[in-house]
Amino acid sequence: MSEIKEAYSLFKDVCKVVDLAATYSDIHPGLLSQIKECNSVYKFHFPLRNEDGTYEVLKGYRVQHSHHKLPVKGGIRYSSFVDEEEVKGLAALMTYKCALVNIPYGGAKGGVNIDPNKYTVPQLERITRRYTAELIKKNFIGPAIDVPAPDYGTGAREMAWIVDTYEAFNPNSINAKGCVTGKPLSQHGIEGRTEATGMGVYIGIREAVSVKEDMDALGLTTGLEGKRVIVQGLGNVGYHSAKFLAEAGAIIIGIAEYNGGIWDEGGIDVEALKAYQLINRGFKGYPKGLFVENSVEMLTYPCDILVPAALENVITAENAGRIQAKIIGEAANGPVTQEAAQILIAKNIFVIPDMYLNAGGVTVSYFEWLKNLSRVSFGKLEKRYDMKKYDALLAVIEKATGDTFTAEQKDLIVRGASERDLVNSGLEETMVTAYHHMNNFRKEKGIKTLRIAAFSVALERIAISYMDLGIFP
Ligand code: NAD
Repeated sequence: MSEIKEAYSLFKDVCKVVDLAATYSDIHPGLLSQIKECNSVYKFHFPLRNEDGTYEVLKGYRVQHSHHKLPVKGGIRYSSFVDEEEVKGLAALMTYKCALVNIPYGGAKGGVNIDPNKYTVPQLERITRRYTAELIKKNFIGPAIDVPAPDYGTGAREMAWIVDTYEAFNPNSINAKGCVTGKPLSQHGIEGRTEATGMGVYIGIREAVSVKEDMDALGLTTGLEGKRVIVQGLGNVGYHSAKFLAEAGAIIIGIAEYNGGIWDEGGIDVEALKAYQLINRGFKGYPKGLFVENSVEMLTYPCDILVPAALENVITAENAGRIQAKIIGEAANGPVTQEAAQILIAKNIFVIPDMYLNAGGVTVSYFEWLKNLSRVSFGKLEKRYDMKKYDALLAVIEKATGDTFTAEQKDLIVRGASERDLVNSGLEETMVTAYHHMNNFRKEKGIKTLRIAAFSVALERIAISYMDLGIFP
């Protein structure tokens, strides 16, 4: 197993896709080489003292893939699979993702090679604070330089430890809160971050099914109403994706978890199933629908839209030929292997790529960073002003027309935007604009897949920012 792992390089795989995408644009070969390389790779070791007095030496990484825009941005992963090639590959993917959705960051990624489940909370705190100190020593973290976020094995708790450590080392930095995103609200996080990725997934799929020409080619009608959806993984991303898709009229007919799935052609009540899962640690015994023991097979059940939202490499050469969905929305990172992707093309299955579809998380992280730099929550200054202005406007209209607005109408018009409203508005704008830009580019250039179109759009943007500096022709 470890031999296979050593041979495989995510970074090299990403570079191959970039080379393919580059054939659709006119980028100088020297510039392409520069774009593909990682600008800075920091690999380090640090000791952890265990409760019994023994020591372990842990391996940490932070890779800054591209400095074409600063700061760089990307998560920190705690996993026993973390190695240099994986962190480099993930950092590169962040560069292309940010460029695609037009978020002004270069890409980065970090990690510590540990299985976080094997450590106590105090140990994890010591690891996180020491990892942060190592980054500070080499200038690999800071609101203007490199801004981490959560990834596998880390969450808001770790981000709180990181910002606290950074502030302790930089007491005079007024922008210190912006050194990391994904923080708890009490530590200057942002409303709407938890559901951001799932909401982005919903918006991306909604935009994809709104294009008549594309739906005609798949034999589908436009719109989400009545579309039959299967979701894999009812965690953060899967739950929010399913919830928003159902609210928009889609019918969630299957939800697969690692320990069994639920199948219900009549439509699953996502909230009820999630509540059941939280209590029972799975779906077994859920009173509605059919319990499916072999939940992996659910990926191949008939549906209009399949949303893998759990983990990577779940649609492979083994099962791709049996997939019956017309659209696959890659909510998870890397759910479709490269061999499977070729099979899906031959079967005319439309894949909305992860690089685009799960970009809601980094988009709202960007808003959190902006909030931290301005030190004021979104909407705080203008909310009451807007409410008074619209109230006065309604009074003028009522007087002029003799009509009166109902309390609900007044509330809808007069209500000033909250932080969550503004975050969701910015997220929607980002996802909608990026989708149509990527899809139109695909059609203009005669590119077969949205994934290659996504990389091509990203490459062009990065190339322009280098060329505008006069470094490359
Ligand atoms: P999560 O841990 O909250 O949820 C994952 C869910 O998948 C869990 O409920 C887990 O039980 C389930 N699962 C695990 N193995 C499974 C299997 N074999 N079959 C079916 N279900 C299985 O994680 P998440 O934050 O929802 O992330 C899911 C994916 O989305 C990951 O690929 C992650 O990298 C990607 N992603 C997440 C975010 C984010 O903001 N959370 C952003 C971008 C990408």
